[in-house]
Amino acid sequence: MLPAALLAASLSFAAPDADIAFSTAKELVVKYTPRNAGTFRGRFAAGFILRELSSRGVNARIDRFSAPTPNGEKHFHNVIAEWETVPDGEWVAILSHFDTKTGIECPGTNDGASTSGLLVALAAMLERTKPSGLNIMLAWLDGEECMHSYSAADGFWGSRHAAAKLKASGRKVKAVICLDMLGDKDLGISIPANSTPGLVSAALRAAAKAGAGDKVRKIPEYVKDDHLPFLQLGFPAIDLIDFEYGSAPGLNDYWHTKDDTIEHISADSLLVAGGIVVEMLKELQQ
Ligand SMILES: [Zn+2]
Repeated sequence: MLPAALLAASLSFAAPDADIAFSTAKELVVKYTPRNAGTFRGRFAAGFILRELSSRGVNARIDRFSAPTPNGEKHFHNVIAEWETVPDGEWVAILSHFDTKTGIECPGTNDGASTSGLLVALAAMLERTKPSGLNIMLAWLDGEECMHSYSAADGFWGSRHAAAKLKASGRKVKAVICLDMLGDKDLGISIPANSTPGLVSAALRAAAKAGAGDKVRKIPEYVKDDHLPFLQLGFPAIDLIDFEYGSAPGLNDYWHTKDDTIEHISADSLLVAGGIVVEMLKELQQ
């Protein structure tokens, strides 16, 4: 099959791509913190991501919607970029949230910005290589963070909206891959138990091929993240998350604190994460 061969040959994520990921994450943090869900600063952050994509030749759009929150009806802004090379073919969706958490002082550097920068770099790479044989959607999601505690009207606004739209589109979906907190300098990626088994196997194979088999492990816990609304609508979905983010093992004291800062993430970690995603795309093509 020529398209698969082309895809396998063209996709790669190298150090210059990781530098784009890191610098984009840094700018998002420096210029757009806070960027809480349902606020005008969240809208500015979505606009920044759109401009970054546009400057790299990526045709993206903002999907604006409103939804009830504990603080009243709010507007949200998902950013969407798509490469449809196979009409009526299967889709892979890759997700990152970009919002910061309401009510606390947290710049959301690893938690939000890191994987949003990574997605911008992946978008630039996809635009450059124009891979054929697989339809790909990248989504920068607003409103992952809940305002009080997760419920049907608190948190996951962007992912619930995107999942519902994907369902309504009738598209065939092969995988939904949620990336979260993957810029951690001390990278250790967990795959929570509430991930689709076939995708877990694909992710583990991809990590080994990317030379990062020691950085990825399955965990027995369930994790609430943006992949959940997709799972709930019957899509195969996986969460890749580094949930050990702190000054010492087990502390997690950089998570949702003022210490979620740029010095705690690295381009090297984003290079590893990007390499795993690229190998996953190749796995999914087979
Ligand atoms: Zn968070």
